[in-house]
Amino acid sequence: AARRQGRGGYAMLSEPHRQQILQDHALELDLPHAVAAEQFVLHYQPIVATATGEVLGHEALVRWQHPERGLLAPGAFLPAVQAGGLMVELGAWVLRTAVRAAARGFGGAAGRDDAAVSVNVSAQQLVRGDLVATVREAPAETGLPPARLLLELTESELLPGTVDVAGVLAELRGLGVRLAVDDFGTGWSNLAHLARLPLDVVTVDRSFLLALPDEHRRDVLAATVAMTSALGARCLIEGVETPEHLALARAVGSDYAQGYLLGRPVPLPDEA
Ligand code: C2E
Ligand code: MG
Ligand code: MG
Ligand code: MG
Repeated sequence: AARRQGRGGYAMLSEPHRQQILQDHALELDLPHAVAAEQFVLHYQPIVATATGEVLGHEALVRWQHPERGLLAPGAFLPAVQAGGLMVELGAWVLRTAVRAAARGFGGAAGRDDAAVSVNVSAQQLVRGDLVATVREAPAETGLPPARLLLELTESELLPGTVDVAGVLAELRGLGVRLAVDDFGTGWSNLAHLARLPLDVVTVDRSFLLALPDEHRRDVLAATVAMTSALGARCLIEGVETPEHLALARAVGSDYAQGYLLGRPVPLPDEA
């Protein structure tokens, strides 16, 4: 923890904290170059129909191929991207790259040739970026039917705020793309607000599978699936790691499942 005495900022911090700050700062300095040098890659994780096991789509998950540090997961650099104001630019790259991959059938990795691609969208893109224009152009350029693009936004990013979230989502929906609320159950779920949004999918955070005691898990998941369908959306349970998790997802009637049991995020064959 930081101590009051002493001078010169960093000297007051504990060593691990200091290292963390220096590392974040170093990453932030590397970022503009990384965007320009296209050091980012997308890995794709299958999304499966719970009832049949069929692969219906893939979620694009960004990684940074850092020249010295190796492959970095989003948790290690997205905060710096956000802080550096580069999320709009990176987000547009992710969107275009993922849509292109889907249009090409994911290099043969897709379960079906109408497999969808899920792309995570951040609040900064909603507020500052020309998200609607990017979303209109990417499928149009590649010929991907817009319905095969699913945009995932976390609950907190969908909260009513400075930007007219409902208005932007209605516009996106108007383009024919599908919309998901991501990591449902981890934020302050404003159900009255969510119910007014045009949502196609609710993705249930994996903490529901991991953190809930067995005797509660099934009831809570079943209620969540019921709530999802009351919102007029399909349900996707994330973090399916064991056959028991999958059986549970099936038993509670979740339409989709995603997790290490069904497939890890991997690069496409032609991008590896
Ligand atoms: P998310 O959108 O909820 O994506 C699912 C995360 O859970 C991914 O982590 C995935 O690798 C991980 N995961 C999937 N199945 C399992 C499982 O069975 N067990 C466990 N333990 N984990 C599993 P990842 O790739 O590290 O991404 C973390 C988060 O970073 C994503 O969570 C998403 O919120 C964000 N993110 C990733 N790519 C992008 C992007 O292109 N743009 C934006 N804005 N955010 C992104
Ligand atoms: Mg997601
Ligand atoms: Mg997801
Ligand atoms: Mg999620």
